[in-house]
Formats: sequence, structure tokens, C-alpha cells
Amino acid sequence: MKITAVRAAWLRASIPAERQHRSDFGVNDSFNTCLIEIDTDTGLTGLGEAKVGVGNLGNYAGVVALIHAELAPLLVGRDPRDVNAVWETLYNGSRAHYVAREGRTFPIVGRRGITLSAISGIDIALWDLLGKSLDQPVWRLLGGRFRDRVPAYASGGWAPLGGVGKQLRQYVERGHRAVKMRVGLQDRSVEDSAARVREARASLGPEVGLMVDAHGTWSVREAQRFARKVAECDLAWLEEPVSPDNPAGQAEVRAATDIPIASGESEQTRFAFRDLIDARAVDVLQPDVAIAGGITETLRICALAAAHGLTVAPHLWGGAVLFASGLHLAVATPCVTALEFSRGENPLLHDLLEEPFELIDGAVPAPERPGLGISLRRDVVRSLTV
Ligand SMILES: [Mg+2]
Repeated sequence: MKITAVRAAWLRASIPAERQHRSDFGVNDSFNTCLIEIDTDTGLTGLGEAKVGVGNLGNYAGVVALIHAELAPLLVGRDPRDVNAVWETLYNGSRAHYVAREGRTFPIVGRRGITLSAISGIDIALWDLLGKSLDQPVWRLLGGRFRDRVPAYASGGWAPLGGVGKQLRQYVERGHRAVKMRVGLQDRSVEDSAARVREARASLGPEVGLMVDAHGTWSVREAQRFARKVAECDLAWLEEPVSPDNPAGQAEVRAATDIPIASGESEQTRFAFRDLIDARAVDVLQPDVAIAGGITETLRICALAAAHGLTVAPHLWGGAVLFASGLHLAVATPCVTALEFSRGENPLLHDLLEEPFELIDGAVPAPERPGLGISLRRDVVRSLTV
């Protein structure tokens, strides 16, 4: 089996004004991602997704060019089933042969940023191809079925005080048993964030899981003050309380509260997650499979989490291919306990597939079809391609 072509495309879905929301990142007037398709001489094609930003923020012209001009020539002619070997080639380049001899990495200078995102998307496509070539779902290749279905929390909650309780209740009415809301600098003050969280808890009652995400916008002291103010709200986690550039500060926040701290959506490779763990900065790791290094690297991150008694809740704010890769990981991997299910307007998650993801009693069932188990609606892909 040989790779014959690697195709990358920037998908961009415009969001109508009445379905947009605003956060500290701005207004989500569009949703963007990079779709990767890897063709083979068997006629099978693997699907991948590479992310360089979330939602409206990504410009994907760079990663598309990078894949076509730099990475595709390294892939054509290779056997796509040699997933580890391809990963090491893309990461280590001309020094990849040292990896086989020495057993450690020799990354090319500059192997972070959009290059790692591109590697992530290619790796996802290789796992899809491996599954299709063996006529097995990816989760079976990752160790088999550990759970039949994976709890999926609703990710949203931008509404202001007086509206956020109702907004989160709507997610529960759509079947979710846990919900996540945004806090932080998008609010007028730490007290405003805390008041919104108190409204959310009062509206949801004690049984619904509630998480909050500050998008890394608070100072250490603001985050500590917030955690103290919401101590009675039984939060399942506080996500990115401070900047991802400040793991030591995040560790201070963590030491001052018993609310679990979640982070990692911007981190790349097992090495970055090792450093977060070593800083004692995190309880719930949130690798984004389309940023962190693909399924291959996320498996390694999961092993790190398991060794430290931590859990993994993959960051899945993206398209359907990313969501599928997180789902397969969670089906097979004990420490992956929750999926993020976007409740912002996102056609790339909800409209791209022939068979959309099902939500049953707040959980997504294990896919039974081979590979990632998804097929694209070609008309939608065509209409969204930039
Ligand atoms: Mg987040």
C-alpha cells in the first residue's frame, strides 16, 4: 500500500449573524479548519484535520501551502500503515534515521507551530487509512473497546448574567449531562464571572456537571479570587485560569483551590505536557489531537496522564474529523473521560458528515464503521472550500 497524493484544503463556514456569539476572542462570524485527504494506490483515502487556530481565528492558507510544498513530497510513495515511522520522518526530517539507532527524538529546528499542526492532521489521516485497510474501527487498533459510549459535555455558555442559566439549561434539554461556560475577561469583573457561575449552578441544580473556561485571561490573583468566590458551586474543572505561557502561575492557582485545573489545548507534543505535569499545574489534560501531534502523540500524552493519576478531556473545538479522532481515543483509552461537544454554531462539526454524530443520554456511541467511521458530504466540502 502506497501513498499517491496528499491533498489539503482550507474549509471556511460563514455563521449567520443571528447564530454568532462573542467572547474574548471576538465574534465567531466564521468557522475554519484544514481538511487533509491522503490517497493511496488501493483506492482508499484517509481523512485528517489540522488546526492552526480555533473557530473564526484561523487563517489556513499557510498550513495548506506547507502540507503541499513541504510535507507531501515526504509522504508520496510511503506505506501509510507505517504510522510511527512517518511521524518520526516528519518530526525529525533528515535526522530521522538517528531515532531508530538512538531511540530518542532529533527534531528539525522550528518543529512547532503550524508544522506540528500539519503533522497532527497527517497522522490522523494515517490512522483512518490503517483502520480502513484492516476493515476495523480505529478504536480497535488503539487497544479495543474500553467503553461503549463516551460522555460528551456541551461547550458554550457565553450569555451574560440573567441569561446564562437559561442558555445552559437548553444544552441539558438537548441531552447533555455536563456543560461548560465561559468566564474571564469577557466579563466585566471577577465578581461578574462568579455571579454568572452562581446563576448557572442555581439554574442547573446539583446533578448537572458544570465546568468553566477562562481562556487563559486572568492574572494569578484574579483566578484565585474567582476560585474562592465559586467554592460552593461544585465545579468539575476550571480551564485555563491563566495564560498558557505561565505554567508556574497556574500551579499557584491550583495549589490555592480544590477545583481541578484543566489546560493544554494550545500545547504541542508529549514534551509540553510533561512540563505542565512537572510544574504541578494541571489535573485534566486537554490535548487537541489536530494541534498536539495527532492520534500517535496524543496516545503518548494519555500514557503520561495515566502515570500521574490525571485524566484527559481532549479539546475538540473544531471539525468533524477532529471530533472523530477524539471519540476513538476515548472509546479505547481509560484515562480519557469526556468529550467536548461544541454548542456554538459550527457547520464543520454538525453539517460535514453523511452520518452526523449521535448524542444518546449525553454520550456519543462508539462508531462501528472502519477507520474513523466517517464519510464527508462532498457537496458541503465543495461549497466550504476556500
Ligand atoms: Mg478552552
